[in-house]
Amino acid sequence: MRALILIEHVNGTVSESAFELARLAKSIGAECQGFVCAGDAEAVSALASQLNGFDSVLGVADAAVEHYNPDAILTALSNVVETHVPDLVMTSYSTAGVDLASALAVRSDRQMLGYVTAIESVDNKLSITSQVYGGKLMAQTSVQLPAVIAVMPGAAKAGEVSGAAPSLTMIDVDLSGTRIRVSELILPDSSGVNLADADKIVCVGRALGGVEKLPMVERLVMSLKAEIAGSRPVIDAGWLPKVRQVGKSGTKVKPKLYLMAGVSGAPEHLEGMESSELIIAINSDEQAPIFRKAHYGAVCDMFQLLPALTERLENGG
Ligand SMILES: Cc1cc2nc3c(=O)[nH]c(=O)nc-3n(C[C@H](O)[C@H](O)[C@H](O)COP(=O)(O)OP(=O)(O)OC[C@H]3O[C@@H](n4cnc5c(N)ncnc54)[C@H](O)[C@@H]3O)c2cc1C
Repeated sequence: MRALILIEHVNGTVSESAFELARLAKSIGAECQGFVCAGDAEAVSALASQLNGFDSVLGVADAAVEHYNPDAILTALSNVVETHVPDLVMTSYSTAGVDLASALAVRSDRQMLGYVTAIESVDNKLSITSQVYGGKLMAQTSVQLPAVIAVMPGAAKAGEVSGAAPSLTMIDVDLSGTRIRVSELILPDSSGVNLADADKIVCVGRALGGVEKLPMVERLVMSLKAEIAGSRPVIDAGWLPKVRQVGKSGTKVKPKLYLMAGVSGAPEHLEGMESSELIIAINSDEQAPIFRKAHYGAVCDMFQLLPALTERLENGG
């Protein structure tokens, strides 16, 4: 079985999702082929050289795909899928992955599944586990190959995939008919924040009540050497910038520690953090849904527990 993996990259660095997808593909014995789009051949080659452990890479170099352009990349990807006929196309369940996976499935007349959390190979079919209703239910689906899947971050353990640098084959695709043109790239002010790769996150919810309460949380964040994050109401209220939102319409995270206070655990929030290794929830309502997901929970007032916890940590406890 051969899996074609859409390689996402930012500022010349391959996204960690590429390796997660490769690990998942290898776990079912698939041959891993990366698909890289970049502005010129040099950039494609530099990205391909980061894909140690992949068996091969197919590259498309064109000014139309220098920056993310769904129209141009979809044309390139469809072309490669038509000519190289992979059994499985894998994307991350990211903004780009979701953009492309379903459109590719329509163009290539393949079955497509999103929100994938696990895959198993059974005969010539895949047995796929995926979330439905925002993660309230899990579905088990038998999918006939060829297919397209969009995989949730955290479905496979991150890290390198062992192996040598892959061979690179450049593919010529005519992208002159691209209807979308990127005229300017405006990067969000992320101030160096990368929640997706953070080891420890402290997330606050609506119960925070106001921006003036943030210093209390920031003290804890500093003593834990963690990143601060918020649920959507916290971002909507402007208490934290958008780049710190976790969830369906924010960042998907998978830290070793996710400590959350005053967050109810709505499905849209869980979607972004349920792959965390250790989830500790603080909520004053013992019926809060988050307690069904958390590994440890404290039913109490966050304004009492957080400062006490900080004090303990600051005193080396
Ligand atoms: C399309 C769509 C996309 C969405 N995307 C996201 C997303 O990306 N991220 C996201 O987070 N949400 C998202 N949402 C919103 C989501 O549905 C919830 O409304 C949101 O997650 C609720 O945030 P919250 O838990 O902070 O607030 P609430 O649901 O209001 O929960 C506050 C919690 O704090 C507890 N509490 C109150 N006082 C205290 C106290 N003193 N100490 C301890 N606990 C206390 C309460 O018991 C309650 O459980 C989305 C919704 C939609 C429809």
